[in-house]
Amino acid sequence: MSDHFCEAVIVTCIDFRFQEYINSWISQNFHPKSYDRVAFAEGVHDLEAILKQIEVSQKLHHIKKVVFINHEDCGAYGKEGTDKRHHEDLKNAAQKVKEKFPDLEVETYYLHLGGTFEEIT
Ligand SMILES: [Zn+2]
Repeated sequence: MSDHFCEAVIVTCIDFRFQEYINSWISQNFHPKSYDRVAFAEGVHDLEAILKQIEVSQKLHHIKKVVFINHEDCGAYGKEGTDKRHHEDLKNAAQKVKEKFPDLEVETYYLHLGGTFEEIT
């Protein structure tokens, strides 16, 4: 098996309403064929499953960066999915990645219904 490299793993929700926004944001911010892409219903909520995916991306493709994109009105969060809750979950996810994978950069975004990406820091 040959070694191949990519820049990042990008983790998003499965929600069909946001895929066009995500596709165009990715094409503005990443070169083609430079990222792995993972979709989970509820975005970063199931962190254990996501950490496993990151581990695989790092092992196989030597990624340098993790990008988390949660979105407004996420059905998987239901009523608990306030802006505040998403911000907290994104920050917590970033923290966990930094603990487990200290060499990786992490970027987190909250995607609004109208397609605006808000960076959470
Ligand atoms: Zn969602």
